[in-house]
Amino acid sequence: MSLLVQKYGGTSVGTVERIQAVAKRVAAERARGHDMVVVSAMSGETNRLLALARAVHPNAPPREVDVLLATGEQVTIALLSMALEELGCPARSYTGAQVHIRTDSVHGRARITAIDDGRVRQDLSSGRVVVIAGFQGVDEGGNITTLGRGGSDTTAVAMAAALRADECQIYTDVDGVYTTDPRVCPQARRLERITVEEMLELASLGAKVLQIRSVEFAGKYRVPLRVLSSFDDGPGTLITYEEPKMEQALISGIAFSRDEAKLTIKGVPDEPGVAYRIVGDVASANINVDMIIQNVGADKTTDFTFTVPRADYRQAREILEKTADALKAREVQGDERIAKISVVGVGMRSHAGIASTMFRVLGEEGINIQMISTSEIKISVIIEEKYLELAVRALHSAFGLDAEAAAAVPLA
Ligand code: ADP
Ligand code: ASP
Ligand code: MG
Repeated sequence: MSLLVQKYGGTSVGTVERIQAVAKRVAAERARGHDMVVVSAMSGETNRLLALARAVHPNAPPREVDVLLATGEQVTIALLSMALEELGCPARSYTGAQVHIRTDSVHGRARITAIDDGRVRQDLSSGRVVVIAGFQGVDEGGNITTLGRGGSDTTAVAMAAALRADECQIYTDVDGVYTTDPRVCPQARRLERITVEEMLELASLGAKVLQIRSVEFAGKYRVPLRVLSSFDDGPGTLITYEEPKMEQALISGIAFSRDEAKLTIKGVPDEPGVAYRIVGDVASANINVDMIIQNVGADKTTDFTFTVPRADYRQAREILEKTADALKAREVQGDERIAKISVVGVGMRSHAGIASTMFRVLGEEGINIQMISTSEIKISVIIEEKYLELAVRALHSAFGLDAEAAAAVPLA
């Protein structure tokens, strides 16, 4: 008998009617084989809980924030199981801790370290649908942890890996992975398939359709993974593990992120150890430094610029002011209104000129590039946030990704 793991995101279980619709879909699937379901909290719920925490304590203890946030998913597992029972489909709900989704102890962004699937297997073999709360686990000390925003995707893929499921299906409010976020670019096109490598880049560069860690898990355990719509039927997008074909498009997708802020420290001594000092101070506060540039100094001093997640901007700036005093730097500048935009494609490996096309298009739109970073299959730039949507659309069209352009290509 086949085994599916299906995950339904926040919008898919956002109302009682939608939960009932999910129950119908699940009950129909169970008639064909075993089914395990992972659900998110109702859309908006996790944000509502976070706001409550902030109202009580501006800097709430992460352990307690996790206890609070985990309740969102507990509501939906119970409601979905009830809806299934109402349809005559035997079901049982479990929290992450109850099915032993073991994680490390990093509250707010814990990593799954082990899953004991005994209880789940028992229920499945006795014909029940098992409904599991996404986004949460339990650490060695028995403390509830959460896996970071969007973490239900990771619960689903990790479960599918542990159970060796035939497929892990991520049901969401779009009918697959698109060339870019269809909310920002109406010309975006659904991809039939995407390589796991490209999906990893897109997810890490801001395409929130799959949480990055879920893609990492999928890649590590080769989990058959598909993204589909919970509202329409359709094949969705399959994540593939094979080598890309020769005729692979140059660019598969464009990702972007507003979750960026930039800091510059000016007039630091141009000598060994200074870069380490600057980045080291920020990194010791557990703040991720992403893009970095250092200008060539003329007068034995140099300027050093880097980006951090926007949520960490204030703290990073405070740290940098102290470093600046210690290094006798000229000044510290910051900018929170920036965005990162990235073009991704395995086709880049064998083709030159992608960067120059990207820079030309942005130049023609009058958009200034503030920072650049590249890897084998992606190019990212930092621009002023207000130009983000314009840049996404212009690049989407210039790289031939637009839906109309694709339809216009004559079929062989
Ligand atoms: P869920 O609550 O189901 O987990 P998310 O909001 O986390 O849903 O993810 C789905 C959203 O991801 C879509 O509504 C879309 O706006 C956004 N998105 C960003 N980039 C892409 C992309 N390349 N393809 C599809 N959706 C994308
Ligand atoms: N409810 C969590 C969130 O909003 C997890 C998820 O939806 O995947 O981030
Ligand atoms: Mg999500």
